[in-house]
Amino acid sequence: MKLIVTGGAGFIGSTLIRRSLKQKKYEILNLDKLTYASNLNSIEDLKSDPNYSFIKCDICDYQLLEKIIIDFKPNKIIHLAAESHVDRSIDNSFSFIETNIIGTYNLLEIARKYFSSLSSYEKNQFIFHHVSTDEVYGSLDFDDKKFDERSSYKPNSPYSASKASSDHLVRAWNKTYNLPTVITNCTNNYGPFQFPEKLIPLTILKCLSHENIPIYGSGSQIRDWLYVEDHADALLRILERCDSGEVYNIGGNCEKSNLQVVEYICKILDEIFPSKKINNYSQLITFVKDRPGHDKRYAMNINKIKKDYNWRPLETFESGMKKTIKWYLKNEDWILNITKQSYNLERLGNHNE
Ligand code: NAD
Repeated sequence: MKLIVTGGAGFIGSTLIRRSLKQKKYEILNLDKLTYASNLNSIEDLKSDPNYSFIKCDICDYQLLEKIIIDFKPNKIIHLAAESHVDRSIDNSFSFIETNIIGTYNLLEIARKYFSSLSSYEKNQFIFHHVSTDEVYGSLDFDDKKFDERSSYKPNSPYSASKASSDHLVRAWNKTYNLPTVITNCTNNYGPFQFPEKLIPLTILKCLSHENIPIYGSGSQIRDWLYVEDHADALLRILERCDSGEVYNIGGNCEKSNLQVVEYICKILDEIFPSKKINNYSQLITFVKDRPGHDKRYAMNINKIKKDYNWRPLETFESGMKKTIKWYLKNEDWILNITKQSYNLERLGNHNE
């Protein structure tokens, strides 16, 4: 089977491709614009796999995208390419509107025309899987029920509004044109290969460089954390068999405040990589002015995916965080390549594991 993955040089896309190639179910074509958030080092190990190929492609370039899709003849498409950082969307939303809305529209239009040219056997196999976020549902109060698949859309940031728009387009192309689609909305992911502007890798690297760890407001905002391999597992199960028009929420059943997450990272690093310069890493925590429109809490009800796919997160927060922190400690070259900053870890701390 032939699968197109968009955004496969990013954090979740590269994890999904690596996992899928191990299963040997798909011949994969990765389409990625290679923005600042991508890293070809993250997929360097995949280059030699005969079932993997890569084309640098901006999903906003309709003509190039159309040619690639028609030439490759995919059985399925999974769409992860996006601008994905909330702070950047507040500073400059243009690329979010372009990639997340126009880019998704381009893919849908090309997929619609391509789908109409398929045989009925191929049509039965085809699915357009759109990967989205819990942030489209807006913010919960601390005592509200978790979001489920019928929760209404109330996005609060330019990022979440652009993702919500793309979800609506996918739904419309399904309802109006019968394009087989599925949408998955997932909570915050963490794990290896995540670009260090997001909370967890940012905190790890701030600790390693002994710089202040910025926490918005009082750090009381709650996120539901999922280890990235568990997300990739859920995506591959859904991609393999799903009913057209379905929506699934994916989450870790693991609500933590931002402060709890940062304190946990500091604690683990104190144990496995104690600093040669300071007593404990939590000394670096610094509270900064809150982000405008900062959502208070996200949490997902995952009963539907549990029931339909017998899926559940396998990694606990503790085990997933330990794996993640150890990965960053072992991958100085990857960090150097992406941040252009050398950490010289031997100088900064003692490896206790
Ligand atoms: P990421 O920022 O790490 O990767 C995004 C990838 O998309 C990058 O490789 C980038 O080069 C590529 N890209 C960006 N614009 C492009 C364009 N115009 N054309 C082609 N490629 C382009 O993001 P991620 O964390 O891996 O997220 C992947 C998807 O999952 C996104 O759609 C995001 O909204 C969604 N999601 C992420 C999380 C999370 O916690 N990271 C949670 C839920 C949903």
